[in-house]
Amino acid sequence: MPEYAMKKKHFNIPVFIPEAACPFQCIYCNQRKISGRLQIPSDDEIITIMEERLATIDPSDSEVELAYFGGNFTGFSVEEQKHYLQLAQPYIEAGQIMSIRLSTRPDYISTEILDLLKSHNVKSIELGAQSLDDAVLKASKRGHTAKDTEEASRMILDKGFTLGLQMMIGLPGDMLEKSIATAQRIVELGARETRIYPTLVIKDTLLEKQYRDGKYQPLNLDEAVHWSAQLLKIFEVANVKVLKLGLHPSEGLLSGNDLTAGPWHPSFRELVITEIWREKLAPFMKKTGETITIEVPPDQINYAVGYEGRNRKMLLKKFTQVKFTSNPLLKTRDFKII
Ligand code: SF4
Repeated sequence: MPEYAMKKKHFNIPVFIPEAACPFQCIYCNQRKISGRLQIPSDDEIITIMEERLATIDPSDSEVELAYFGGNFTGFSVEEQKHYLQLAQPYIEAGQIMSIRLSTRPDYISTEILDLLKSHNVKSIELGAQSLDDAVLKASKRGHTAKDTEEASRMILDKGFTLGLQMMIGLPGDMLEKSIATAQRIVELGARETRIYPTLVIKDTLLEKQYRDGKYQPLNLDEAVHWSAQLLKIFEVANVKVLKLGLHPSEGLLSGNDLTAGPWHPSFRELVITEIWREKLAPFMKKTGETITIEVPPDQINYAVGYEGRNRKMLLKKFTQVKFTSNPLLKTRDFKII
């Protein structure tokens, strides 16, 4: 295969840096509970994370990115930001790490900050937009507006970074229409990447108090899956990469101890893609017959059959036999009934 045709594998080395002195109190956030850590990692710990991960990666066919995640990277002082960024520079100069990505708040972006990040090989900036509806942002006590996200997005793109806009669903005052409008706006603002986080009620947060007082009700799992399916379709059509759907177990929220309520599921992405296939196959529930055979792209067969065989079981209510087969000629989520 000619070299230009080889696609390098992409690896992130995630380093979680909670902002211990975050001045905000977003209604849903208890960062220490989510991070599962009480302290900011030391320099030695960050270097160990990088070196241990790099030791497992073949540099010849890999692109490696150091990813600083946490509440608000650019909320650190300029000296602290420089310090964290400089930790990665020897690895970048040695060609082991290609670039840095980080996540931060939309109201902590300025020309000076972007210049600092640019000069330290930051390539991708993810903003915690959460919603582009001002009433939802206010009820969630985010402390910024949709306009802040719009302006920060423009500045990030103008400076040539890759833009990511993360969103949450089911925040106080949110509804499906508002989440869909947020997803559409994320596309319009030029994001190439997103993450979709269903709102969870976490212990020791303002949201938990509202929930216990009967003033807030989280989405149930079916709602969160249905909403996310509608958003995923919007992002896929627009070629916006959905880097994450749901909160990953490694982010520390594992045991029931931290989670009071909300649509958490270890296979959330699988449930969402199962839902997209359920919607596609639902029209065939109007028919009945002996056998139905559904051809799908090879990488979609498990999703088409559905999480725990849900879509197969649905069709078995109308057909005696339900067969799913893979057809390599089919792309994305096309299918054929034969
Ligand atoms: S979500 Fe981010 S900005 Fe809000 S309180 Fe938590 S760490 Fe601070």
